[in-house]
Amino acid sequence: MRNELLGWYDRNKRDLPWRHTNDSYAIWISEIMLQQTRVAVVIERYSAFLERFPTVNALAEADEQDVLALWSGLGYYRRARMLHRAAQTVVAQEAGMMPATADELRKLPGIGSYTAAAVASIAHGEHVAVVDGNVERVLSRIRGWESHDTVGEAAVRRKVEEFAAGLVAPRRPGDFNQAIMELGATVCTPRNPQCLVCPWAAECRTLGEHKTPKRAPMTSREIACALIVRESDAGTEVLLEQRAATNTVMPGMWELPTLEPTGATALEEVVTVRHAIMQVNYTVRVHLLPPSDLSLIANTGAAQRWIRLPEASTMALTGLARKVLRRAGLLQSSARNKPTAFAPPAIKELV
Ligand code: SF4
Repeated sequence: MRNELLGWYDRNKRDLPWRHTNDSYAIWISEIMLQQTRVAVVIERYSAFLERFPTVNALAEADEQDVLALWSGLGYYRRARMLHRAAQTVVAQEAGMMPATADELRKLPGIGSYTAAAVASIAHGEHVAVVDGNVERVLSRIRGWESHDTVGEAAVRRKVEEFAAGLVAPRRPGDFNQAIMELGATVCTPRNPQCLVCPWAAECRTLGEHKTPKRAPMTSREIACALIVRESDAGTEVLLEQRAATNTVMPGMWELPTLEPTGATALEEVVTVRHAIMQVNYTVRVHLLPPSDLSLIANTGAAQRWIRLPEASTMALTGLARKVLRRAGLLQSSARNKPTAFAPPAIKELV
């Protein structure tokens, strides 16, 4: 099974930027970014993050707001905070040397069994297996292990971990771990697994008949927020609010002010943005508000500040705020983003 998988991986692996390095710091960054974020999004942000923070020392010395700004668009900002804290721990306790073993890596903030095994095996060749959702799905399908409740899930998880630990290739543990995750991401996918091209089809007991547990359904919500822009001696400025440091979701990050639900209905909608956060699909209706009348802004108690546009692009904006400002043509779009949908002249008329 090892040879079949590694042969398939050598022929089919995707050319991803973090596969060109053995630097454990860079591999660690990629593994944290890849948790709960699509590969295409990580590719966009990975190089910029490493350019700004090329070493664990550079990351440790950075201001948290700068780290969050570079993380913008990747979501789940707690990961960025823990990454920053772990870098500071490495500098303070290990003189800036990244730990080399999974056991040592696991002691750092924000590094669990999966990340520790991935970094130790890929960067240092440690003979440990990774088990994430992809690996669990592939190996459960191979063996035909199903679970119907939480007790069963824990039992399957234990069996998968034992199976994975016995399978991992002693001579190429990092490649083996990446290969099995690649198989889960590209061939043995949650729906419609491609068994005809699977290197493990001969070993598989279920061949696509295995029932993968359904994900919790997404819910929908509508919110309204205000785009408020003015011209000053400093140039074009936008009014932003900072989320409280005590907020459990995205503390300290900058966003557009929210509108009172009743006030929004009387205002012209200038752009509508769809944005998913965890299990919620948001429809965000953005209204242009004159800077002379801020009475319709919901009183959240958040600190407000006029921000110059060049400065806004470097701040720790929420993903939604960045998306709205780009759609409004106020922030530069990355190459992969769609062209702006909203014409800035409308702002000038109001100023
Ligand atoms: S044969 Fe099909 S179900 Fe089995 S591991 Fe391969 S892709 Fe998954």
